[in-house]
Amino acid sequence: MALSKHIDPDELIQACKDHPHFGLLDDGLNPTTHKTVYGLSDIPKFTLPSDGIPRSAAYQLIHDEMELDGAPILNLASFVNTGMDHHADRLMQENMNKNLVDFDEYPATQAIHTRCISILADLWKVPKGCKAIGTATTGSSEAIMLGGLAMKKRWQEKMKAAGKDIHNPGPNIVFGANAQVALEKFARYFDVECRLVPVTEESHFVMDPKEAIKFVDENTIGVMVIMGSTYTGEFEDVKSMSDLLDEYEARTGIDIPIHVDGASGAFTAPFAYPDYQWAFDVKRVNSINASGHKFGLTYAGLGWLVIKDESLLPKDLIFELHYLGTAQSSFTLNFSRSAAPVLAQMYRFLELGRKGYTEIVCADLANARLLSRALERSYFTLLSNIHRPAKVSVATRVTATLGADQEDPNLYCRGLPVVAFRLSDEFMKEYPHVQQRWIQQLLRIKGWIVPNYNAPKAVEQIEMLRVVVRSTLSADLVARLLTDILEVTESLKERGSDSTLMMALQAHGETHKDQTSVNHPAQRRPSGHHPHSNGSNGSNGSHGKRGHRTKHNGSRPEAMGVHHKDDAGEGQVGFGRPC
Ligand SMILES: *Cc1c(COP(=O)(O)O)cnc(C)c1O
Repeated sequence: MALSKHIDPDELIQACKDHPHFGLLDDGLNPTTHKTVYGLSDIPKFTLPSDGIPRSAAYQLIHDEMELDGAPILNLASFVNTGMDHHADRLMQENMNKNLVDFDEYPATQAIHTRCISILADLWKVPKGCKAIGTATTGSSEAIMLGGLAMKKRWQEKMKAAGKDIHNPGPNIVFGANAQVALEKFARYFDVECRLVPVTEESHFVMDPKEAIKFVDENTIGVMVIMGSTYTGEFEDVKSMSDLLDEYEARTGIDIPIHVDGASGAFTAPFAYPDYQWAFDVKRVNSINASGHKFGLTYAGLGWLVIKDESLLPKDLIFELHYLGTAQSSFTLNFSRSAAPVLAQMYRFLELGRKGYTEIVCADLANARLLSRALERSYFTLLSNIHRPAKVSVATRVTATLGADQEDPNLYCRGLPVVAFRLSDEFMKEYPHVQQRWIQQLLRIKGWIVPNYNAPKAVEQIEMLRVVVRSTLSADLVARLLTDILEVTESLKERGSDSTLMMALQAHGETHKDQTSVNHPAQRRPSGHHPHSNGSNGSNGSHGKRGHRTKHNGSRPEAMGVHHKDDAGEGQVGFGRPC
């Protein structure tokens, strides 16, 4: 039971060791050391062991501890891809020891990096005559920092040239309140005022360009438009934003650029909606970021930034590296990192091609529609829209009814393969004792991670459950998931008594809540944290939750000593904000 809430398990175990004066062998578990079954004496956990141990034992020790992690395939909270095949694994393993930044030493790696940028620039429709420039990053977050910095520097240059003050009132940036935490991080880390455009249920929980335009002024370094909100998967309207900024410039003479946060959308829209205008085919889009490790289908650790033309990258951000005799330029935040993720991306490009990516995205969207419709016909109201028919032209509809491809995502509203839903008003009226977040908890007992979030600021009273449909969630698993969601919901209905339910919850998931917070020191809310960030740390799949902060004082990040085998599958319990 939930002893750990009040009692320190490390101390407890220490106190329960056999008492030495009975002359018994001290073989009680010591939570601050690894107690191994490999014939080794205790190995300290939190300080460097003085002697090494056999390699096979070191491997086994860590391997065994990894067994306690949850199953990535059931983690429907995360956009991050979890599966590649053994060819990719082999390529990565063969090249793990290469440093991406050693251009001179590893020219072949560098050539592949450049080709990836070229492929992405083309996919995102860089206009003829532009010389696109870009870089691999560790994820979209780093790419967003760089894209934001380029906008900030260009704004500074523009203001200085006009003889204007760049400090008072200083720069601002505009994006929707539905933004992923990386966007707010950029604003805070780089001292740019963050102007959050409120979102509403009517705006489908994303930024409405007509609202956004009210927030821009002479000191706006740019507008970040999100192609694929983490809340509902909804695309923001890049083209309308650009058109409104054109009108604004015509009226005021102020030229404001757009950066597109295409973390997920930049790897799905080009395939699912090839004619949709959102990328460099929209005039004001100067830069785009994407996560290779989401729908780019590599493993975690890869993002991309592409800038439409090298003239848009301020010289100030480029560092000339004189490394091993030759001059190279760099504009990343990190320096050394493995080349392996970039090779994994090129492997995916070659293995899948446009057709392969299209098939995967269309299958994800079809599975998401299936789940959406099924939920809508049971106890839920859908907050995502990809299953709703689009207002398509008669010609398109005719082709569709003539037996053409009903699976074509263009017949439906555009968006990411995300299913966001809540209990219907009718259900809540009939069973007012039911709390939606219990569904998250009960699904967790069955192994599924389906987070329950509050909607963005100003509409946060709306709670939504969310499933990200990745390629690992097959139609069979969708059916299984639906069965479990219905079963769990009906059990809440029938039980009728919260006390029975709460007892069930306490016996399972809830037990680990506080331990979990301690286990992930990065989740602790830093002081002065932005009020609506809900303590989320922004790393993929790691979420904090308001009201579920650890009761430990946080001075011992090492307090992760005691795990039991039945912790497997239990990770973070609460979710504050989608990542
Ligand atoms: C995931 C995500 C990010 C952050 O990307 P990382 O690759 O995890 O750093 C930013 N914006 C959006 C819309 C996202 O979905």
